Parts: sequence; structure tokens; C-alpha cells
Amino acid sequence: MAATHSDDSCIFCKIIKGDIPSFKLFDSDKTYAFLDIGPLSKGHCLVIPKYHGKTLQDIPDEHLGEILVVVKKLATATGSTNYNVLQNNGRIAHQVVDHVHFHMIPKPNEEEGLGVGWPTK
Ligand code: C5P
Repeated sequence: MAATHSDDSCIFCKIIKGDIPSFKLFDSDKTYAFLDIGPLSKGHCLVIPKYHGKTLQDIPDEHLGEILVVVKKLATATGSTNYNVLQNNGRIAHQVVDHVHFHMIPKPNEEEGLGVGWPTK
């Protein structure tokens, strides 16, 4: 297990620990990914460092290195080649949960219709 730190009052730290259930998509020593509970599209998921920090500046570089690789892996797995990757950093930038997270939001390809993405149930 990589050295990390967590905040007992943080909802995403509780998800990482398994104290709050999530639909897990990826789990390594530094990175965790799960389906967003309020998906903007089928397959909308969040990729987070296990190291607790509110903003990117709070996370040591060595805990960020895997994030985009996981985003790419999950996007590929949905079958959609069109998707948005989004990280809201700070309140003014619409960050609601104070644990760094990257959204991966699939946009169904025209020819694929709505049939792409992770099952949500
Ligand atoms: O980037 P921002 O902080 O605005 O987004 C937080 C995201 O976390 C929302 O998309 C929300 O649906 C998601 N969330 C979640 N599970 C929770 C709490 C929030 O997937 N238990």
C-alpha cells in the first residue's frame, strides 16, 4: 500500500475505504475509480487519487501520475471515442466535493446511439 493520507470526514475517502458503497471500476494502490451517482451520461465516472487533497496543488505529483492513464482505460472500455474529461478545481470552478476528482463523461457516438457506456445497475 502506498503511503497516503485520508480525511475521515471526506465522502470520497469513505468510498475508497468501502465505508460508503460505490460501483468500483478501478482500484490500485494510488488510484480509485467509480461510477458517478448523478451521471450526466451513461458511463459517467470519477477517477480519484487515494491521497486526500482538495485541489490539484494539494496532491503530491507521485499520486497523480496514474490518473489520466485510468481515464483513458475507462473511456476505451465504454466504447465511446467521444467524451469529456473534467476536473473542477475550487468552489468558483464548481467543485462540490473537496477531494480531487476527474470526471470522464462519455458522449455517445452518433452511429452508436445510446448503447455505449457502463451498466448503471
Ligand atoms: O466536480 P464536482 O465536485 O462538482 O462533482 C462532484 C461529483 O461527485 C458529482 O458529479 C456527484 O454526482 C459525485 N458524487 C458521487 N458520489 C457521491 C457524492 C458525489 O458520485 N457519494
